Amino acid sequence: MSEQPARIEGIQPGLQARGFNSGRPVVDWLCHCGVHERAEGSKAYGLLVRVRVGVCPHRPAEGRATA
Ligand SMILES: [Zn+2]
Repeated sequence: MSEQPARIEGIQPGLQARGFNSGRPVVDWLCHCGVHERAEGSKAYGLLVRVRVGVCPHRPAEGRATA
């Protein structure tokens, strides 16, 4: 018998918010650059408003090549 290696599937870049109905919100943000951030509780709201899907804050701004 052969064992299948564990694979992580179903995770796509973007925001995933859950738990808002339970009073303990959890927001997962997977940036398209691969950085993953998680915020819980009141910080979840802060992350929600801070994140702009499609805009990566983890790298320096591009476009400085031209002078
Ligand atoms: Zn990023």
